[in-house]
Amino acid sequence: MVHKKLSLNINGIKRKLSKLAFLLSILAEDFSIIPKDDPKQALRLRRFFISLGIYILNFPLFYLGYQAGIMSLEVLYWNWIIVLVANVVLYIVFRTGFNRRMRDPSLTSVQICTASLVVMYAIFFIPEARGILFSVYILILLFGIFRLDTRQFLYMSAFILLTYGMDIFLLQVLRPQHINLNVEIFQLGALAVVLISVSFIGGNISSLRRELSSSRERLRSSMKTIQDMAIHDDLTGFYNRRHLMELIETENSRSVRTGADFSLVMMDIDKFKNINDTHGHQAGDNVLITFSAIIHSILRKTDFCGRYGGEEFLIVLTETDIREAKVFAERIRSCVEDSFFPDLGHDSRVTVSIGLAEHRKKEDIEKTISRADEALYRAKNGGRNRVECSE
Ligand code: GH3
Ligand code: MG
Ligand code: MG
Repeated sequence: MVHKKLSLNINGIKRKLSKLAFLLSILAEDFSIIPKDDPKQALRLRRFFISLGIYILNFPLFYLGYQAGIMSLEVLYWNWIIVLVANVVLYIVFRTGFNRRMRDPSLTSVQICTASLVVMYAIFFIPEARGILFSVYILILLFGIFRLDTRQFLYMSAFILLTYGMDIFLLQVLRPQHINLNVEIFQLGALAVVLISVSFIGGNISSLRRELSSSRERLRSSMKTIQDMAIHDDLTGFYNRRHLMELIETENSRSVRTGADFSLVMMDIDKFKNINDTHGHQAGDNVLITFSAIIHSILRKTDFCGRYGGEEFLIVLTETDIREAKVFAERIRSCVEDSFFPDLGHDSRVTVSIGLAEHRKKEDIEKTISRADEALYRAKNGGRNRVECSE
């Protein structure tokens, strides 16, 4: 009986443990110390870890201070506890994304103020070592280079001076035997000079950094524009012939790999020369723009169109056989015929002739294009404003 009860208990514990292991494995999968999906948050957390590293570097230093009899064990522990608690809170704020709601999500000022308060605590309890801790103040302020401008640097300097002033005040009131007020005031002045200088230098470096990153951003957007221009036709927004041919090649290789059909739609606007001659070249351009807008509105996301020549366009219908291509081409033809072209007025209409060819397995792509071209030729000869298919 007892044996049965015991084994029941063990089974229950095993189940709970496996549940816990399962939950932990989910947590471990989703959780990463630095988020992978948000580069900005990742950068902020990397900087947070740099600052944490500096705090940790100070741990053995403070221990040395304790060994040298400069500070008590209690002050040492409290210093470590304050640093750890402050950093755990900061990490939670970053990792939960709460920092995104703040005006400065990098929390640079918050981190500088926190570090200054930690030093303020240390100075109060080890006034003898405050000269050395001055360099720590500079280090803390330098963190602003990631973010602050000169004005914000000066605010942070003012905060640091305030904490140091508070130290002097508290020491004067509570432990006057530890300080010489005249020397302290001189030291405060020296600290002010150093911090103000660091503020101006840091503000300058930070503005250089900002300029650099904004010019990098401009460069990136210019590159994007150039890349867009290199593959698109200016007037119609369709791909230019060179890029169209590259895409067709890609589609061809895909079709060899997957065995999927695709069809080519070769279009040529009818009597376009007449449009130019009667209404002028600009009107002709506008007709091309309206024509392109019509095609854009009909095209599926998976298809692509390029300007093959002056008023000749080539569409690639992916995963489409000739029967479906014919329905699509007929839709284009009737849509163009029914559309109103403002530059031409109500008397003229624009029509398009279309030649279709379905790509045959193992057929050279040039051959498919020339079959579509021949079908277009037949459409023109057959009276225009019609769709012809290559058999
Ligand atoms: P068809 O029905 O046989 O196709 O007659 P068409 O007049 O359209 O044929 P053709 O190819 O002889 O004429 C095409 C004209 O298109 C000649 C050219 O000046 C004009 N063209 C080509 N590109 C542009 C352009 O970008 N803008 C304008 N406005 N006209 C262009
Ligand atoms: Mg034409
Ligand atoms: Mg033509």
